[in-house]
Amino acid sequence: MKTKYYKIDVENMNMSQMKEAGELIAAGELVAFPTETVYGLGGDALHPEAAKKIYEAKGRPSDNPLIIHIADVSDLERVAKEVPPEAYKLADAFWPGPLTMVVWKKDEVPYATTGGLNTVAVRMPKHSIALELIRQSGTLIAAPSANTSGRPSPTEASHVLEDLDGRIAMVLDGGAVGIGIESTIIDLTEATPMVLRPGYITPQMLSDVLEKEVIIDPGIIAADDTTKPKAPGMKYKHYAPKADMIIVDGEECAVIEKINTLTEEAHKNGKKVAVIATEKTKTAYAADVVLSIGARDDEDSIAKHMYKILRECDELDVELIYSESYKTPRIGQAIMNRLLKAAAHQVINL
Ligand code: AMP
Ligand code: MG
Repeated sequence: MKTKYYKIDVENMNMSQMKEAGELIAAGELVAFPTETVYGLGGDALHPEAAKKIYEAKGRPSDNPLIIHIADVSDLERVAKEVPPEAYKLADAFWPGPLTMVVWKKDEVPYATTGGLNTVAVRMPKHSIALELIRQSGTLIAAPSANTSGRPSPTEASHVLEDLDGRIAMVLDGGAVGIGIESTIIDLTEATPMVLRPGYITPQMLSDVLEKEVIIDPGIIAADDTTKPKAPGMKYKHYAPKADMIIVDGEECAVIEKINTLTEEAHKNGKKVAVIATEKTKTAYAADVVLSIGARDDEDSIAKHMYKILRECDELDVELIYSESYKTPRIGQAIMNRLLKAAAHQVINL
């Protein structure tokens, strides 16, 4: 299949191109589009055949459910069996935005979209191209991240093409995304709301709005396989670069010294090494490639650059990646959740 590519100006969208994209979705085809978190791979959420195409294009296991993207809060009622009062409160505070809510599904939502579950994940994205595409399609859009399963999520249209060119009908290029990590997922199907995936919106922010306790799925904190995460997708080794990756955690000086020692050893064994560092520390390393993820006190920039850097490591064909640790105050939990997965939980604590 030839993948059509349109560069869309967010400020001044070409409506005939957006209409064409919407018609493709309505016809059961797949269109990749930007959201504020990462690029999504969209298909008609209410048609099982479209969901199957999404799984096929990504090589995604079919038990890993898709998030349904809506353009209006009232669309929640089209997919939710009943909308819990918490959902309206959270929608009021965070939609459109990087928050996905899990609620009981209506019969109209196919099991192909929910990976066989009786619950459905819903989000209203904060990106005018995404919202316009949903409106133009006349339906709701199921969209996982637009990467091949197991590769880092795409934060630019070029990443989507790297993975999916020739496998999907269209890519809408809206430039680099703003946030760079996937949405926070909150499960509202039990008495106590539970965060299934950490993201830009923190448990504290959710709990402040709901005025009640919000817990974090123990399965996403566990470093081993003994506690299963509730979100099926969180159990897979995601976001992984091809190289073996190790995170080194500790005081800055000690981390630099350790990574340089490890790099020296790796060089003796003829291995090509990349280091993921910050603006401040990038000159302190003697690796083959040193990539700066951003300034340590600008956690938004760290989130924004993380996946791009993991993709760069693949392109550079390095065999080993040593990364500093980024437990930043607000979204450090979300950043480390992804980085730890990329590193298959290999951490050296100093
Ligand atoms: P992605 O869109 O690629 O970021 O993946 C969607 C994430 O949402 C995966 O981790 C899924 O497991 C999770 N998810 C989607 N629907 C549900 C649901 N009904 N219950 C729990 N997790 C879900
Ligand atoms: Mg994904």
